[in-house]
Formats: sequence, structure tokens, C-alpha cells
Amino acid sequence: MNNAVLVLNQNYEPLNVCNVRRALVLVLGGKAEILEQNAEVVTTARAVYVVPSVIRLHYFIRRPRPRVKLSRREIFIRDNHTCQYCGRRGGELTVDHVIPRSRGGLHIWENVVSACRPCNHRKGGKSVAEAHMDLRMQPHEPRAGTYYTVERRLDLSQRDDWHKFLPELKPSSKWASRHSTNGSSSIPA
Ligand SMILES: [Zn+2]
Repeated sequence: MNNAVLVLNQNYEPLNVCNVRRALVLVLGGKAEILEQNAEVVTTARAVYVVPSVIRLHYFIRRPRPRVKLSRREIFIRDNHTCQYCGRRGGELTVDHVIPRSRGGLHIWENVVSACRPCNHRKGGKSVAEAHMDLRMQPHEPRAGTYYTVERRLDLSQRDDWHKFLPELKPSSKWASRHSTNGSSSIPA
């Protein structure tokens, strides 16, 4: 009963992931339909149920835009693991506050960037201008795409039946690049 089930909105947009028990409650309550199912069944005292793999809600859920949690990991992903001062990619990265915290700089998306150790050291407690450095990009809050809300919670290598419902899962998407090796080839026509 612990298998993950992909939940689609009424318009087939990936919404989230739930467990089989929750999915069956939605289906049996007439709130969702099963689009894909596993070979397994769930047996209870009263009945035998198929195990859903993908369900679609019969009603449309309007929800606030999901937001990416501000963390070191997500900052590095947003910046493509690239130092935002010298442009060097990979290696050990740190989080730099563009306006230093000692000067009241906030810990918000718009004020944090990935920086390699030498650049972070060089900038120190100075502003960008004072340090005679340049930012390659103005930092911003990243968009929470399907990868952030759904795909990273699924082991896609195990579940071919989910791919066709996750249109953002393509090699060109940096969020999905780690899954691209087994992505497109297994999407049914
Ligand atoms: Zn650097």
C-alpha cells in the first residue's frame, strides 16, 4: 500500500504524489479515475482492488503557485552549479549574500548566489561594486516546475507508465537532466 501514485489534475497536469491508500479513497469516493494501474491488487476483508499507478481527479484543483524552498542545494541548482562571479562551474561552492548580512542583507532568493571559495573570500564583507566584481546574473526566485513538485519524488526509472503524463521530462530541461537517459525512449507513442 506504500507505492507512490501520480495524481493528475482534471486537466491532466501533474499535481502531486500520494500513496495507494489515499488514491483508492479518492477513486472509490468518486473523486478520481484510474488512468494506469499496477499488476498487483489489494485485498481487504470486503473486496479486491486494483492498485492505481496514475489517477486523475474529476474536479479541477486551483492551487497557489508552489515555491522552491530556499536552501543551499536549490541555490546551486538554480545557478547551474556555477560561480556567479567568475563563471567557474562545478567544484566546491558556497552561498554568498550579494548585500552582506553584516550590512543588513536578507537571506532571500534575490540576495543569494552561488560562489566559489576564492570569489567568496575576495568579496568578503564588501558590496559587489566595492569588491570590483560583477554578477553574471541578477538572482531571482526560481520557478517550481514539475520536476520540483512531482518528478523528484518519483523513481522514474521504475515507472514507465508515468512518463507520458510528465511532459516536462525531456533532456533539454535542466531539472530533468538526471533522468534523461531513460526518458524519451520509454514514452509510448
Ligand atoms: Zn568564482
